[in-house]
Amino acid sequence: MSWDFETDPDFQRQLDWIDAFVGAEVEPLDYVLGSPYDIKNPNNLKLVPPLQMKVKARGLWACHLGPELGGQGFGQVKLALMNEILGRSRFGPIVFGCHAPDSGNAEILAHYGTPEQKRRYLEPLLASEIVSCFSMTEPQGGADPLVFTTTAARDGNEWVINGEKWFSSNARFAEFFIVMAITDPDSPPHERMSMFIVPAQSAGIDILRNVGDISAEVATHAYIRYTNVRVPLDHMLGGRGQAFVVAQVRLGGGRIHHAMRTLGEARKAFHMMCERALSRTTQGQRLSEKQMIQEKIADSWIEIEQFRLLVLRTAWLIDKYGDYLKVRKDIAAIKAAMPKVLHDVASRALHIHGSLGLSDEMPFAGQVIASYFLALADGPTEVHKVTLAKQLLRDYRPSTDLFPSYHGPKLKQRALDKYGQLLQSPDDVV
Ligand SMILES: Cc1cc2nc3c(=O)[nH]c(=O)nc-3n(C[C@H](O)[C@H](O)[C@H](O)COP(=O)(O)OP(=O)(O)OC[C@H]3O[C@@H](n4cnc5c(N)ncnc54)[C@H](O)[C@@H]3O)c2cc1C
Repeated sequence: MSWDFETDPDFQRQLDWIDAFVGAEVEPLDYVLGSPYDIKNPNNLKLVPPLQMKVKARGLWACHLGPELGGQGFGQVKLALMNEILGRSRFGPIVFGCHAPDSGNAEILAHYGTPEQKRRYLEPLLASEIVSCFSMTEPQGGADPLVFTTTAARDGNEWVINGEKWFSSNARFAEFFIVMAITDPDSPPHERMSMFIVPAQSAGIDILRNVGDISAEVATHAYIRYTNVRVPLDHMLGGRGQAFVVAQVRLGGGRIHHAMRTLGEARKAFHMMCERALSRTTQGQRLSEKQMIQEKIADSWIEIEQFRLLVLRTAWLIDKYGDYLKVRKDIAAIKAAMPKVLHDVASRALHIHGSLGLSDEMPFAGQVIASYFLALADGPTEVHKVTLAKQLLRDYRPSTDLFPSYHGPKLKQRALDKYGQLLQSPDDVV
């Protein structure tokens, strides 16, 4: 029997240290620096690396990776417990070396990269000397990769990439892009595309513009045109036609890591909601004494704790199977649940704070917008719900009869067949 909801004391000490460190040293960065990915910015260079050194010294660097890659090999449960603290701060993940999208990109480089690809791209990425970009979505559609048209054609010892990508986050800061392109148009739909590592300095890459989103300080989502961009043959990542498989490995980890950090965001809004409810008085009563405010607090706590259990259970399943594909259903469930939890908790916190809540002096409006980001990035909620439903339905069979297998009269007849001869007067049974 091994159901347990406690953290072992050694790791709890680490979590306590992370909690205090993030509160005192990392969260203040959110108020004085721009994008965490602008790692060459002089202000970032001055403030971030010293904190990263402290994290490394504490043995908490890049905890999403195994020891062979310079990480701690903590597994997903410990990572979840860490990430729910790091999620409070925009800079938390980068200070701890486990920031998206680099964490996911590192994961596929570790999984599929050749020794040379690892040396050239993974090692500096893990050391946080560079940042990277995942360039998959296209202007004509993101939710359905089968509408992508970017191609990579072989020409001698090179692949030549042509097409446009949309919302390629952090391209402006990245040293390389991971690009999904059609290499085999005549193959079955899910075997048409391959993944490529494209150095940012390659000729023919044109960032048409950096698109902003309301919740971010800096516009970082690039609209990119690739025109005859040439990469050597050895810059394919994974097998030819395997882009979908590679993307799944990347997105599986990315999705649960987002969920872990979202817990931190939602809890931050919850703490603020509670402090405000106890502090603000209206019509002679504290807000906390009004039942409709109490309902908002209770609903928020229930939703956060339900979601937390689902995330931790999914993390535990990933550790157990060591394979994201085996936990696809559970990851789809947390991906679908995550935006709603943040949206609902942040909206209540915003509302309880009145005009202050709506203002740009508080984080709530940004959190509500961020919930929409969570509902779209790494696949829209609708798609994950469809995946979840399809996987769940695999465990069921249709009734072969006009009435369902659980129809009352049928169950009663079965019960009478089983127990009828033991009853004194079976005909009286209602
Ligand atoms: C903040 C942010 C960062 C991102 N970063 C990156 C990145 O770094 N790299 C990258 O490649 N992409 C990135 N994306 C793009 C992201 O992957 C896409 O936004 C996502 O795949 C949806 O594609 P779309 O925006 O084109 O919407 P569309 O595909 O046009 O979808 C439009 C609407 O249809 C809904 N929908 C889609 N499918 C279904 C369905 N089956 N049933 C019902 N409704 C459906 C969607 O939820 C949405 O509401 C990012 C997006 C955001 C918001």
